[in-house]
Amino acid sequence: MLNEFDIIKQYFTQTKNTHPEIILGIGDDAAVWQQGNATLVASVDTLIEGKHFLSVCRPEDIAYKALAVNLSDFAAMGATPRWFTLALTLPIAHSDWLEKFSHSLFALAKQYDVVLIGGDTTQGALSITIQLMGTIDKDKMLLRNQAKPGDEIYVSGTLGDAGLALRVLQKKITLPESVALLVLPKLNRPEAQIPLGLALGGVAHAAIDISDGLAQDLGHILQASNVGADIYLDQLPLSESLTQALSRVDAENLALTAGDDYQLCFTLAPNHPIISELAPTHTLTRIGEITQQGGLRIHQKGQLIRPQTLGWQHFK
Ligand code: ADP
Ligand code: MG
Repeated sequence: MLNEFDIIKQYFTQTKNTHPEIILGIGDDAAVWQQGNATLVASVDTLIEGKHFLSVCRPEDIAYKALAVNLSDFAAMGATPRWFTLALTLPIAHSDWLEKFSHSLFALAKQYDVVLIGGDTTQGALSITIQLMGTIDKDKMLLRNQAKPGDEIYVSGTLGDAGLALRVLQKKITLPESVALLVLPKLNRPEAQIPLGLALGGVAHAAIDISDGLAQDLGHILQASNVGADIYLDQLPLSESLTQALSRVDAENLALTAGDDYQLCFTLAPNHPIISELAPTHTLTRIGEITQQGGLRIHQKGQLIRPQTLGWQHFK
């Protein structure tokens, strides 16, 4: 069966760009085009009940996440978000639900100074689609296809916390309530790394946001850049919540393959001073290096390993 990436490639990717205003079409975290003097950016993401959030999820968290995941794609481009549209499909119109949803949506929009300029409202199974638009400095775009052999690979924040939270909600793991309260927001309210993306623009070589798991999303950088990588699981940044809840090996595997963390993964020329410049405000961890030789080699306890999955895929 075709997976989501086969579908996009086979049916929706047109190789010939006949429109010179398009700077970046399908294949990165957002599209970029030139309109007069302005360089504009757009991305769209859908959240479906049962797939992207569980039915127990609160309206304020659903709204937050629907906007945050789009903001995260902008962070991965080094773009500035400005405007968004909202396509909302609801099974029933509960005013209490809508009150909480819209309040939370506008609170996050205000935080990033983005404004709702349109949308669509329909009845059906609960689904939320947000299209985000904004601007970018075209000399400072962060692309997936610019990783160079010898680059160091970094990730922001800690990895695997959202995956841990999902397993708590699915009742696969039980945590003390105080720890559960720490990790659940990592799944429900991911913080888009917009300031980091802007700081890395024109500095980092390649970048992506980790929505579907580090291994898979780094894999997109490797494929687009036609390079490979070595990464070391004992270097992955793991939260105390994660290492206390799971064995070291299980924690590393979750950090490697679980989605929904929305941290940035980026590559940088070796020993770049930006890392110490950003250290006071950001947690940035070096996890490996880019190689000329293709493929992703994952090292755990000094051994090469092959995880069963690299990350989340639709239609798999
Ligand atoms: P992300 O995880 O950053 O949202 P995806 O992996 O979902 O990115 O998508 C990969 C690329 O394919 C992106 O550039 C996206 O815009 C594009 N894409 C996804 N679905 C379609 C579609 N149905 N038609 C055209 N482009 C698509
Ligand atoms: Mg993305």
